[in-house]
Amino acid sequence: MPATQSHEKSGARRVTPNLVSVTTINQDGSRKFLHPADSQGRFMRWRRMVAFLLMVIYIALPWIPVNGYPAVFLDVAERRFHFFGLTLAAQDMWLGFFLITGLAFSLFIVTSFLGRIWCGWTCPYTVFLEHVYRRIERLIDGDAPARKKLDDAPWGLEKVTKRVLKHGIFVLLSLGIAHVFLSYFVSIRQLYAWMHGPPSQHTLAFGVVLFLTAGLYFAFSWFREQFCIILCPYGRLQSALTDDNTVVIGYDQKRGEPRGKAGTAGAGACVNCHRCVQVCPTGIDIRNGLQLECIGCAACVDACDDIMTKLDRPKGLVRYDSFNGFRGGKTRFIRARTIAYMFFAALGLAAFSMSLSTLKPMRVLAKRMQGLPYFVSDGTVRNQFNIRILNERQTAASYTITLDPASVPQGMRMVGAEEPVRVPPLGEVVKPVIIAIPQTEYKASQPIRILVSETGGASQAKQEVEFLGPDLRYVQMPPH
Ligand code: SF4
Ligand code: SF4
Repeated sequence: MPATQSHEKSGARRVTPNLVSVTTINQDGSRKFLHPADSQGRFMRWRRMVAFLLMVIYIALPWIPVNGYPAVFLDVAERRFHFFGLTLAAQDMWLGFFLITGLAFSLFIVTSFLGRIWCGWTCPYTVFLEHVYRRIERLIDGDAPARKKLDDAPWGLEKVTKRVLKHGIFVLLSLGIAHVFLSYFVSIRQLYAWMHGPPSQHTLAFGVVLFLTAGLYFAFSWFREQFCIILCPYGRLQSALTDDNTVVIGYDQKRGEPRGKAGTAGAGACVNCHRCVQVCPTGIDIRNGLQLECIGCAACVDACDDIMTKLDRPKGLVRYDSFNGFRGGKTRFIRARTIAYMFFAALGLAAFSMSLSTLKPMRVLAKRMQGLPYFVSDGTVRNQFNIRILNERQTAASYTITLDPASVPQGMRMVGAEEPVRVPPLGEVVKPVIIAIPQTEYKASQPIRILVSETGGASQAKQEVEFLGPDLRYVQMPPH
């Protein structure tokens, strides 16, 4: 079925949207701003509870300390990422590949079972849009007909007052959410200091907050369902992840058709009241089948159940069910695709936890200093190295730097690392050292190993470096 139909009339081409057109576009191509009606019912009550809980979690995570750090703290400045007591350094972020793979396939499993339940119930965008911004709008502007009437009304005292109040609250809310977002990247103490200092002292952070506030205000006050319809990539993937056994929100055609007023002879259960369409936040008619715009919010289920209750008919004309279920068949939960998704989710999460066990409490990186690769003076051949020690522990630790005796020739020694090196928690220290050998003992360039041991012997790391010197076949060493 084409998305549009063309009409040739008096030489002019007119395009009429049909059932599969985007429901939020007017015939002239302009945006059709939706005013979804309020829906009340069991699913809305459950969604509100879930949304409230999620908002508490979003706000609380940067405040709850776990192992001395916020539960989730993406410390970009220090290149450390804290997740519920687990700290990863920037160089450990390759682990994120496995974690994201595992989580993505977990979401695929949920989608293959329950369609876009994530979108309608737990997506932060839906949570804030449906349960914060739209509720405030309803409080100020009234129900759907009142909002539409106010939209169409000419500017007057009432409209100006309501608009200023509503958009003022929207801006403040967006500012608040932007600060919550920022608290995941900077410490609460730092954020508090910034909030009380002049913007000139933290222009970047101030700019980020302004940008986020503007983006959130734009999205939640105007763009709204368009984000889910045209921008969200997960919504576009939906049809590839679901099948006839996926439980989605749908309309029972067998029971509902043909539509007709209550009491009409031969009519199905649907009384064509359009209540399910009026409450839909994306403006679709679920009776036309599952559509990409459906975010699975269940508002139409509550709305239709309410109508059915009033008509003294069984609920569930619009309900959660699979296509097979709507056809009168059975829903199979275990299918090839769910097994495949489970396998890849388990693989990703298992690889992540196994990789975690390979993380070491310390890292060592020895690099030759810039400049000449070696020096020969005072009867000694010298190489200079910088030894970088990264302490991956949450506590300070001391390390001794030595040469591995099994790898060095007679007479080779290290200068500059006589004292243990103390490294702060999750910190790093660079120690310059000189490795030297009397020229009488020197035979040739050779690999040697630098040994870094944590005091108390808890951990140890070795790094091989090349000790360089002159090639004695061509260079006559001065006599000692
Ligand atoms: S709310 Fe129920 S009865 Fe009313 S139009 Fe929708 S499906 Fe039909
Ligand atoms: S069709 Fe129903 S479940 Fe889908 S978005 Fe509209 S109201 Fe929500």
